Amino acid sequence: MLRNTLLYLSNQQQVFRFVRHNGLAKRFASRFVAGETVEGALDAVGALNARGIRASLDLLGESVTNADEARQTGREYVRLLERIQERGLDANVSVKLTAMGQDVDEQLCVDTITSVLETARRYGNFVRLDMESSAYTQRTLDLFYGRLYPAFPENVGIVLQSYLFRTDDDVARANAERCRVRICKGAYKEPPSVAYPDKADVDAGYVRAMHALMRDGRYPGLATHDERLVDEAKRFARAEGIGPERFEFQMLYGVRRDLQDALVREGYNMRVYVPFGTQWYPYLMRRLAERPANVAFMTGSIVKELVRGRRAGNGAPPRARVTGDAPERERAHADVAGPGADRR
Ligand SMILES: Cc1cc2nc3c(=O)[nH]c(=O)nc-3n(C[C@H](O)[C@H](O)[C@H](O)COP(=O)(O)OP(=O)(O)OC[C@H]3O[C@@H](n4cnc5c(N)ncnc54)[C@H](O)[C@@H]3O)c2cc1C
Repeated sequence: MLRNTLLYLSNQQQVFRFVRHNGLAKRFASRFVAGETVEGALDAVGALNARGIRASLDLLGESVTNADEARQTGREYVRLLERIQERGLDANVSVKLTAMGQDVDEQLCVDTITSVLETARRYGNFVRLDMESSAYTQRTLDLFYGRLYPAFPENVGIVLQSYLFRTDDDVARANAERCRVRICKGAYKEPPSVAYPDKADVDAGYVRAMHALMRDGRYPGLATHDERLVDEAKRFARAEGIGPERFEFQMLYGVRRDLQDALVREGYNMRVYVPFGTQWYPYLMRRLAERPANVAFMTGSIVKELVRGRRAGNGAPPRARVTGDAPERERAHADVAGPGADRR
């Protein structure tokens, strides 16, 4: 019920117009989204870098419905890569091919993502192609292997999702072709004809893929907040003599900061996925819908901060934080599903 209400609200533009200028709603969002502007997001990346954490920036956007919008998004990513370079930050970018015009025209999509990849190559940077729903899996891999990876072998990588039946084969191919993979569980609602309906099978698939990528792959990104999987990665690396420089953990902005910091302290590479942009409202609502417990958690923490602000004497709530920090006790409940669900 709550989930459906949140999903309904995520599509309501008039609600967004209201909350966009509402301080409290923005404070809600700042936990999971690094502000609306490029510079604000880069400040958040700077704060992550200071904690020894790398970033991958995701520009939150509306569905792209024509060539102008796709080209505009491409230009924004080019500018983002330029600003990362100018500010000397340790960050790459994550891109959805649908935002590059995949649903409008394939050649448009190739041209747009190529301009982004050329910029990444100029700066020795990297572009991760987020994986969307299974309707896009084959098309995305065809484009990747057929056009993008041959032209930019050092600058582009893919995402595979352990909930799909096909992923063992996709991992084997990626390893054979020496391309970089982020492995995640998968965030879309998929039919049982293509994906495991049971979480236990998804987790088992993740372990299989993770082992294969760590052993035979090229610097895989292990994207999960699942502590059991993180522990298994560490155990496997020790058992197989795989050094921590050969892979990285990846988590979402504002989620499990305690685990992020602990992994950095232990000497592992850690990258945080940092979504930003004016279109934060649908992203936030979908994250809340995926884990409705977050609504209670966020309401509770905002109320606590309001009370603390009053006690501090001025009656005004503290300013919204850019980094989405939260005490670990609170954060332990701040569960969100992944960015892949962004355009669901
Ligand atoms: C960097 C990154 C990139 C991603 N890219 C994509 C993509 O391109 N395509 C796509 O489809 N999906 C993507 N995802 C989303 C992903 O597929 C999952 O939907 C999402 O990460 C949730 O799965 P999980 O592995 O974190 O663990 P879950 O199975 O959701 O959770 C497992 C356990 O982890 C712990 N946990 C998880 N989150 C929290 C939290 N916030 N606080 C406390 N404990 C927690 C809990 O113990 C929980 O029971 C990405 C995720 C990340 C982190």
